[in-house]
Amino acid sequence: MTMSAARRRLELALVPVKLPMAARIGESMSRRGTDVTAASAGRSCVVLAPHPDDETLGCGATVMRKIDGGAGVQVIVISDGATWPPWRTPEENIAVRDAELRASCRILGLADEAVTHLSFPETRLDSAGDSLVDAVADAVRSHTPDEVYVTSEADPHSDHAALARATKRALTGRAVRLLAYPVWQWERPRSWARTVAAASPAETVSTAGYLERKRQAVEVFSSQMSSALGGEKIQGLTPGFLGHFLAEREMFFPVAL
Ligand SMILES: [Zn+2]
Repeated sequence: MTMSAARRRLELALVPVKLPMAARIGESMSRRGTDVTAASAGRSCVVLAPHPDDETLGCGATVMRKIDGGAGVQVIVISDGATWPPWRTPEENIAVRDAELRASCRILGLADEAVTHLSFPETRLDSAGDSLVDAVADAVRSHTPDEVYVTSEADPHSDHAALARATKRALTGRAVRLLAYPVWQWERPRSWARTVAAASPAETVSTAGYLERKRQAVEVFSSQMSSALGGEKIQGLTPGFLGHFLAEREMFFPVAL
């Protein structure tokens, strides 16, 4: 057995321990966060997502509240989605996931022109360098939002962390609120500590009244569901994982610029 196979086996063996631990930590933070539901609804925003689905999982209810509050919302998805699932061609994956993204955002109430899907290569955002920083800076400059939402630099997924780092570089010194939304922290207990260390204590937005529509928007991403991925649960969206995003609140960590 190779080292990587041994490590993979150890990681799989720890999953039953890690998942409930990560859930407990995240749920406790969410309960203790500052409720900013009312204030958030009036602030315009740009939501940056590494992959199609992150915007809906992390910010779906917040986006709907802002639209209902009359605040402008732009969604920018950075990577093409070419690599997942691996048995489809890159062209098929890009087309399927782009269609899922647009259908999901329509359910959230976004006009088609409020959704931009860029073509950075999926799984390689950590080597995108200045071009990623420039893309984020351009997007924020052209929309002048009150807030920017992005994944956390402590997110265990390398694309998520890379986009967070690039966004911080792009926005340093700018008069905008930067808020990090957790995604894969819900599977890795230790990443919560790094998330908190990189930001201020959590703010939360209530999903009350928006949960059913968020559920419908999430279910659109059928190509990413573990049930469609042959049981590779660690890399697909499982019902348990999705439950964290279909809870009473969405959670954000303000990042200093
Ligand atoms: Zn993602």
